[in-house]
Amino acid sequence: MKHKRYDVEGAVLDIPLQWNERAGKFLEQYPDFEETPVYTPEGFPLRLTCDDACPDAVLPDNIYRECGSCQLFRLHSESLLGVCGHPAHRQTTEEETL
Ligand code: SF4
Repeated sequence: MKHKRYDVEGAVLDIPLQWNERAGKFLEQYPDFEETPVYTPEGFPLRLTCDDACPDAVLPDNIYRECGSCQLFRLHSESLLGVCGHPAHRQTTEEETL
């Protein structure tokens, strides 16, 4: 299967590409990061722009509640991928918890 490799702030992912008849092109099949979390080496979780915003979101008023609208979301160019920069969502390393 074809795939596209991304390096998102040091988290390397191979995203499968699936042919879509209607679009007439290969479309990326993104994983569900809620089900299978992926973290950058700095411990920040990956999210998609279209993921539902969490209760900690920092959003302007009257805007659609998704990660892509959150001020703490760092978009990775040319994809739906990005990183949640919320400090409370960061996974600390073993060394940091000692
Ligand atoms: S980017 Fe992080 S803080 Fe913002 S809505 Fe998404 S999960 Fe929540």
